[in-house]
Amino acid sequence: MPESLIYHIDVNSAFLSWEAAELLRKDPDAPDIRTFPSVIGGDESRRHGIVLAKSVPAKKYGIKTGDPLAHARRKCPGLKIYPPHYPIYARRSDAFMELLRRYAPSVEAYSIDEAFCDMTGTTSLYGDPVAFAHTLKDTIRTELGFTVNIGVSVNRLLAKMASDFEKPDKVHTLFPEEIADKLWPLPVEDLFFVGKSSAKRLHSLGITTIGELARSDHAMIVSMLKSHGDTIWHYANGIESAELTHESPANKGYGNSLTLSYDVTDADTARHVLLSLCETVGARIRSAKAYISVVQVQIVDNEFRQTSRQMTLPSSTNVTERIYECACELFDALWDHSPIRLLGVSTSKATAESYEQYSLFDMERTEKLSRLNQAVDSIRTRYGEESIKRACFMDPAAKSAGISHIRRGRSHELPDED
Ligand SMILES: [Mg+2]
Repeated sequence: MPESLIYHIDVNSAFLSWEAAELLRKDPDAPDIRTFPSVIGGDESRRHGIVLAKSVPAKKYGIKTGDPLAHARRKCPGLKIYPPHYPIYARRSDAFMELLRRYAPSVEAYSIDEAFCDMTGTTSLYGDPVAFAHTLKDTIRTELGFTVNIGVSVNRLLAKMASDFEKPDKVHTLFPEEIADKLWPLPVEDLFFVGKSSAKRLHSLGITTIGELARSDHAMIVSMLKSHGDTIWHYANGIESAELTHESPANKGYGNSLTLSYDVTDADTARHVLLSLCETVGARIRSAKAYISVVQVQIVDNEFRQTSRQMTLPSSTNVTERIYECACELFDALWDHSPIRLLGVSTSKATAESYEQYSLFDMERTEKLSRLNQAVDSIRTRYGEESIKRACFMDPAAKSAGISHIRRGRSHELPDED
């Protein structure tokens, strides 16, 4: 068995790099927005006016992703702001993943601009893994016009930590024998999965570096931070756990989740995302000629805390609106107003038959909705997903928040339309 070899490839300032590449494609004489203080920002007239990506010169002014545009402008008065073009980013992301698939035996799209490549066993083909990572990085830059960082290691956790070292346009290794030198001196909040509140609790124990966490007493960390403590203690020691992926738990039902391109902080946007997830889930249920009777909502916040809640329906259903109503109810009960990084909707207890027990009023409504759903499914099958969508997705707020009206898979982070 060859030792495992993993690359984590991360596009540097993805939206900004992709915007820059597109502007240069349209006009080779255009200024390169990566070379001066610039950001990609949402619509300022709405509440989504935040920094989505920043150039390296903008970062020097202390501008951070998620900053309101007004704050960013105060930090850097000459700042140039460019609106996002999601369809372009989706295409660039596709081209990025496609290029990786040309070289890597297995590519896992982790988000719109990040992927894990399992390169195990490729040394005989490509030679030295670090030299080849440089070749791959340069190929992406030459062919696609943007830079990436590549982290090289034996598991995904270490590869991901490595790609986050100095940016941009760099290859870094973090092999197990390098952990003590390269990982342990870093502040504990730099460790993947450690959010602000866990960092605070660790600080209260006198743990400020990843190394101190790694050498701390496992039982004490677990008693304080529960299973999350177990995960980060292992991460600090370079040991990956299954939680690195946002794979949904084994489930015979139908589900979909979405890692958002920025943290969602308002319930309206969250409900739009839930509806787009329910659209896909509902369509899958109906195409399998199934009915479900349990709906679950999952939230991962910006500190990687995962929560979920489920409910059993009084009757089984295949109706998108019904699933969406439950999802909203669960969401309202579950959400503590922390910024949201990932939302998921899953369903279970699938049966081939509906055992609906409802009042006459309900029955009429359910049957109407069921027929309507099926009509929409067949229109989408014949004329494409874009042929029909709910009016709420035409709302400029949904558009500027970058919410697609239907969600195909969990690796799709961005909408297909503007
Ligand atoms: Mg990135």
